[in-house]
Amino acid sequence: MAEATVTVGDLVAWIHRFSEVIAEHAEELTTLDSAIGDADHGTNMRRGCRAAVEALEATEPTDVSGFGRAIAMKLISAVGGTSGPLYGSFFLALGTAGGATAELDDAGTVAALRAAVDAVRSRGKAEPGDKTMLDALLPAVEAMESCLDEGGSLADALAAGTTAAEDGMHATTPMLARKGRASYLGERSIGHQDPGATSSWLLVRSAAQTLTA
Ligand code: ADP
Ligand code: MG
Repeated sequence: MAEATVTVGDLVAWIHRFSEVIAEHAEELTTLDSAIGDADHGTNMRRGCRAAVEALEATEPTDVSGFGRAIAMKLISAVGGTSGPLYGSFFLALGTAGGATAELDDAGTVAALRAAVDAVRSRGKAEPGDKTMLDALLPAVEAMESCLDEGGSLADALAAGTTAAEDGMHATTPMLARKGRASYLGERSIGHQDPGATSSWLLVRSAAQTLTA
């Protein structure tokens, strides 16, 4: 079976899809953030995604690294908050790992996603179980790697990653927050789903819907 190739056009479609889905879920994200944060995650993400889409339209990147750079800068400046720089790091690392190439094969795609998730981890200094976006992203990329190792296609890997991200998102509810604003609440952070883990699940699900379409 021929390998799927992920082109820069597919990556751009991913961000368009993510932006749509974030707009659809913005209220829900803000409601989640109102319970354990400052009620701005939905508006932050909607603003940042819109700016990222505009940046892609303005710069028309031709390689993966240009794609990552274009979005990262916008997410850092336009999302703001804690999550903006973290999502910015995600795309900057994805672009750096992907490099000056117009397309990625299956392994290259998952390797770029792994680099992106590792960048979120090192930038935010969160560990699994701290009740952050990492609790959706890390299981997602681990599931993708296992799936490819077992001979699955990229589409299978992205589907497995989406399920793992969703499970990871739900698993944040009973966690005690140890990073970000939610950590100020201590025990009172328990019993609420993390907003960043929720937007990260949407990011992974958007990838599954676009990268191998
Ligand atoms: P802010 O907390 O500055 O208002 P947002 O509301 O946009 O920013 O984002 C909050 C989300 O950021 C949290 O739900 C959590 O998932 C994520 N987050 C916070 N701190 C960290 C961190 N150190 N590492 C990873 N993710 C984090
Ligand atoms: Mg917030």
